[in-house]
Amino acid sequence: MQTRLADWIRETPMGIEADAILRKCVHCGFCLATCPTYDLLGDELDSPRGRIYLMKQMLEGSPVSRRTQLHLDRCLTCRACETTCPSGVQYGRLVDIGRSLVDERVGRTAGDRLRRWFLKNTLPSRPLFAGALGAARLLRPLLPRALRRRIPARREAGAWPATLHARRVLRLGGCVQPAIAPSIDAAAARVLDAIGISLVDVPRSGCCGAVTFHLNDQHGALRYARANIDAWWPFVEAGAEAIVITASGCGTMVKDYGHLLQHDARYAAKAARIAELAKDISEVIAAERAVLLAKLAKLPRPHKVAFQSPCSLQHGQRLAGVVESLLREAGYTLTPVPDAHLCCGSAGTYSILQPELSQRLLHRKVRALEGGFPDEIATANVGCLAHLETGTAVPIRHWIELIDGRLGFPLAGRG
Ligand code: SF4
Ligand code: SF4
Repeated sequence: MQTRLADWIRETPMGIEADAILRKCVHCGFCLATCPTYDLLGDELDSPRGRIYLMKQMLEGSPVSRRTQLHLDRCLTCRACETTCPSGVQYGRLVDIGRSLVDERVGRTAGDRLRRWFLKNTLPSRPLFAGALGAARLLRPLLPRALRRRIPARREAGAWPATLHARRVLRLGGCVQPAIAPSIDAAAARVLDAIGISLVDVPRSGCCGAVTFHLNDQHGALRYARANIDAWWPFVEAGAEAIVITASGCGTMVKDYGHLLQHDARYAAKAARIAELAKDISEVIAAERAVLLAKLAKLPRPHKVAFQSPCSLQHGQRLAGVVESLLREAGYTLTPVPDAHLCCGSAGTYSILQPELSQRLLHRKVRALEGGFPDEIATANVGCLAHLETGTAVPIRHWIELIDGRLGFPLAGRG
């Protein structure tokens, strides 16, 4: 695609990056077939190619409006289009640039600003979110049924392994996951312990910054990134071999720290090293599969699992098929999930900011997951887990909890 960026952006780091991405797009339209919002709305401007045009026009100096903002807001940042694109267009990076420039130009309504401020200041704060969720759980019996379903039930964590192995990997402290499902990291710690690796808690590490970043506060998100780097760095210098992340959405963000902090003279080198060390839990387990599989108890009966592969896992981190093969090798029967490339509608804060589209995607995804009559649904991201749980009665767990259960620890219930 030929471009002629406007003077105000052409020579800036954002302009240079956006221009390089735009030039790769050859308008072929292959990406339309895998875009969930195009599939739902049938409007080219709600497709990757349409949004790329809108951003190109803006970068070339055309006026932008709330309409442009709406089409970019409706994008889930699921990055299914990147997986499909034969030209390697990094749509996710382009839309981050596009969104920040559109917001600078057209602003947001007072209500929208308030909603976004509230999300940005509660979700990434572990104590605030845990307090709010605790209160909601207490009030749960008094709430109408529709609201009750939206409050994730308690999942007991169980014991954290006491043994300290020579091989050590670091934990991301996180924000919402410890309150919604502390069972996930505890299960990961036990599974890693079984293969001779300690998952080291790093109390000062916190939110990865993804929520803030996708709410368009990119500077705020980088503060979280720097704080995590500072928290992990002494452990990295002491020989920790990886940073293991059990929420694929957070993993995608941490793997991007190197890119996001490349222009920060103080942090660029450390951020690049942290990004290199960041691993989804499935990558670590897959590398040790032979040791682990030998330790799993036999399944007492055939067990059918539908795996929901989060967009951040299959498109963001390009790890499609890794968890699926681990689950098969562990003896589970995976049920077919049609349109597995499509987003479930969770997408960070999308389910709150775009509830109608999110619900349509949720119902579609639940139909696809339930179609093979699974005993359980497994996922790899806490946001998807909490979102899917509002739409189905089939038990949902992180896949590492299933493996943990096979090592003898009883599976955490839905509370
Ligand atoms: S598939 Fe890639 S090159 Fe083709 S229109 Fe979409 S973004 Fe552009
Ligand atoms: S990121 Fe997802 S929703 Fe956004 S344009 Fe690409 S495929 Fe469509």
